[in-house]
Amino acid sequence: MSTEDAARPVIPATMQAMVLDKPGTPLRLMALPVPMPGPQEVLVKITACGVCRTDLHVIDGELPHPKLPLVPGHEIVGTVVRTGEQVGSRKIGDVVGIPWMGYTCGTFRYCRRQQENLCEYALFTGYTLDGGYAEYTVAYEKYCFPLATQYAGPEGAPLLCAGLIGYRSYAMKGPELLDAAIIFAPAGELVPAALQSVDKGPIACCGRNGLSAV
Ligand SMILES: [Zn+2]
Ligand SMILES: [Zn+2]
Repeated sequence: MSTEDAARPVIPATMQAMVLDKPGTPLRLMALPVPMPGPQEVLVKITACGVCRTDLHVIDGELPHPKLPLVPGHEIVGTVVRTGEQVGSRKIGDVVGIPWMGYTCGTFRYCRRQQENLCEYALFTGYTLDGGYAEYTVAYEKYCFPLATQYAGPEGAPLLCAGLIGYRSYAMKGPELLDAAIIFAPAGELVPAALQSVDKGPIACCGRNGLSAV
């Protein structure tokens, strides 16, 4: 056995996965084959996967035309264990996060305008692609984001949807100080951060469990 072979992760033939057979029914634990990555995909051994409200919408049948049967879950943290032959930017051992958006065409109008979230041909993790309620998943290289070591576990998973949406909103707001800030998380240390981000005479609204304080 070469040194390179010895360093290569051992990948089993099958994995445990939670599967949605039909919307409105409970997920079922079953053994599935570990998927093979396509040319532009990586195989990721999953460390953690968060639960987002959108997962519940999919499971309850409130989003149309999911892939069925489906492995839900789109807040995925894991480690790359195999790469497709055209993969260039990810390698075995990389810690990555996999979000809701799993594929875009990269060709037509919205993708060309940097509005790939509107791509007509988009595919979504845990909805039209299998997701993260399993031991392994495949994902397109372009939609695997490198993660810092401190986010390599369960604490990193919510960043792949809730965190990503929050950051995008923050990035789109411009550099100016805010007129108001809304805190959704029940974490007191966010209050000073919110107050530093607002202009004079600010409103910092703490919304939690149906209560709001200003
Ligand atoms: Zn989500
Ligand atoms: Zn597109």
